[in-house]
Amino acid sequence: MYNLTAEDVLTALKSVVDPAKNTDVVSLGMVQGLAVKDGHVSFALEVAPKDGRSKEPLRLAAEKVVLALKGARSVSAVLTAHRAASAPPPKRASLNAQMQTDAAPRAGAPERQGPPGVKAVVAVASGKGGVGKSTVAVNLAVALNQLGLSAGLLDADIYGPSIPRMLGLTGKPTSKDGKKLQPMQAWGLKAISIGSLIDEDQPMIWRGPMVMTALTQLIYDVEWAPLDVLVVDMPPGTGDAQLTLAQRVPLAGAVIVSTPQDIALIDARKGLAMFKKTHVPIFGIVENMSTFVCPNCGHEEHIFGHGGARETATKLGADFLGEIPLHIAIRETSDGGTPITARDPQSPQAKAFRSLAERVAAKLEAGDTRPAPRIVIE
Ligand code: ADP
Repeated sequence: MYNLTAEDVLTALKSVVDPAKNTDVVSLGMVQGLAVKDGHVSFALEVAPKDGRSKEPLRLAAEKVVLALKGARSVSAVLTAHRAASAPPPKRASLNAQMQTDAAPRAGAPERQGPPGVKAVVAVASGKGGVGKSTVAVNLAVALNQLGLSAGLLDADIYGPSIPRMLGLTGKPTSKDGKKLQPMQAWGLKAISIGSLIDEDQPMIWRGPMVMTALTQLIYDVEWAPLDVLVVDMPPGTGDAQLTLAQRVPLAGAVIVSTPQDIALIDARKGLAMFKKTHVPIFGIVENMSTFVCPNCGHEEHIFGHGGARETATKLGADFLGEIPLHIAIRETSDGGTPITARDPQSPQAKAFRSLAERVAAKLEAGDTRPAPRIVIE
């Protein structure tokens, strides 16, 4: 297969002319964040905020010429609004300042729709790694499926994609038409992992645009439809990648995972704050590794303390979504590629995940979701 290069793409884009200026998009400096990998191309077209959606035909034309190139397998172009010359630069040093700058809705901003045929996208997030976020995301998705909702799972954890291991997925996703990727299938779920698209042996520095393009591709260029809910296993923490996702994807809501330890709760607060700032509805906090249940005698022990997440949730005005016990069966099944919810649906551990899923489903059903924020992509 011909190895498509960024130069090929730029050459092709030179034939796309903005009629308002009678100049091509490359010469106008509109093409930003171009990424080409294995025939998958993504880039942004920068437009003035006031032009917003009127530039949609230009975006479509740009996608079309690139897709026609030899070796092009998929193309994702997004419109972004550039900052007015007089506006102050974003204060990168302060997360809060950055979030306010980036997340503030502005008139005329291009608005990103959710992936077609997907009714709701729910983020599972945590303020730090190792709290069981991926375990919760996997079992929540399976449990939602068991409740009768068609569910998908997107592993967006660029720092440590673990969904293939937890679902027992091997190989790479394929494409029928060379444009859209087919999600993989496991335990009744459609699933895809950013781990399938990156070479894990190669050290990768995921800078802003690369993270953006890879994640955008996984959301929009995968054949998800039809789906009631797409669960996104977010990268841990509250950095750029998280902000990118929270801003780019119209999230119906976010589930924050925390362990009972104080330090993790502090991190959970940061997670909450991030979603609040980006106007993503917060479904609530779930306490993972809540109570240790001895697999031999059933004795319960609160190794990390207990109830902290409930308290934090109450204090911060968020709902408490329940407790998941610390149990060896959860670790063994998720690390063995057979989530406990699928392997042993009648176990108390699976029931804990199902009751979480019921709460999330109720939130979705109740339309407990404000409209997605209109975000200007900087
Ligand atoms: P994160 O996504 O937050 O980094 P993971 O979901 O990868 O965390 O979980 C980290 C480890 O903890 C995994 O080995 C997982 O199997 C284990 N684990 C997560 N939740 C539980 C639980 N409730 N009981 C037992 N082990 C758990």
